[in-house]
Amino acid sequence: MRLPFIAANWKMFKTVHESVVFVKELRLLVKDVEEVEIVIAPPFTAIHAAAEAARNTNIGVAGQDVYWERDGAFTGEIAPGMIKEAGAEYVIIGHSERRRLFGETDAIVNRKVVAALAAGLTPIACIGETLEERERNETLAVLDRQIKDGFDQLTAEQMAELVVAYEPVWAIGTGRTATAAQAGEAHAHIRSRLRQWFGADAADRCHVIYGGSVKPDNIRELLVEPDVDGALVGGASLEVKSFADIVSRSRRAAV
Ligand code: PEP
Repeated sequence: MRLPFIAANWKMFKTVHESVVFVKELRLLVKDVEEVEIVIAPPFTAIHAAAEAARNTNIGVAGQDVYWERDGAFTGEIAPGMIKEAGAEYVIIGHSERRRLFGETDAIVNRKVVAALAAGLTPIACIGETLEERERNETLAVLDRQIKDGFDQLTAEQMAELVVAYEPVWAIGTGRTATAAQAGEAHAHIRSRLRQWFGADAADRCHVIYGGSVKPDNIRELLVEPDVDGALVGGASLEVKSFADIVSRSRRAAV
């Protein structure tokens, strides 16, 4: 049974103070929402304070990235155990901005996913095609490669715990949302590959969420698609009422 899963990706926005103010407002706005999993991903610096502000609420906290080693001489990197200790339960891995701007490959995504799981974090692992790949009709082949290589060696049980975020790169931060039909097709494909490669139980339990210009006025039509289990929200998650609206509009009978 998959409850709708709604996550806020703040990217490189919000100070510690701003994050705490947001969480304090959000927890009032969503305090009665029981049937939606709610997660916010602040910058590393605000994870601890945001997690403290969210303690004993229905709001979880995520990191936006992580390194795969437990510790060592890796200046500037953050280990999975460090963000967990700071209060994160989830971590975004392989966001298209990490892939495009920082050269992350599927192999790197795989190392990070494995390390995050080993530390007891739930990865929110991002996949999705670029505009050029879509125009060349390569969308499904790109998704296959990202699933196969990015989730290589995971057990069925680990796959079941993962959150997979389908984020078509052309829809991120552009105001251009995939239509419900486009999202539905990609999500159904992802689910069928998970079933084929990890088994029915993993495919049924794994959340596959959509990301790309999600807003309060389009979340409902996306969630009507049976394989769309929620959303990873960038721009529209920076303003607390807009994010709370998306959360409230995601309520539905559990699927
Ligand atoms: C994202 O950054 O993951 C994202 C989906 O951004 P936006 O909602 O702004 O398109």
